Amino acid sequence: MEQSLNLCYECSTFPCTRLKRLDKNYQQRYHVSLIENARYLQNVGSDQYLHEEHEKWRCVACGSVVCLHDRVCSECGKFMPE
Ligand SMILES: [Zn+2]
Repeated sequence: MEQSLNLCYECSTFPCTRLKRLDKNYQQRYHVSLIENARYLQNVGSDQYLHEEHEKWRCVACGSVVCLHDRVCSECGKFMPE
């Protein structure tokens, strides 16, 4: 049976070419680094990481989740600039 990988950095080829390309794309478009995020997650652990991300992407107006791609709240539509 194939071993399943849940997290990017668990892969032996991390960061692979495909991820590097995607990371570059995300940095340009969304100013978010997937590789940095994965490394940070590896350092602090998933509990801490998820807690911080939850705070970071929480709408200041209604407390719902703000979309990374357009920085708009999924509930109230508030725009959250960086
Ligand atoms: Zn909102």
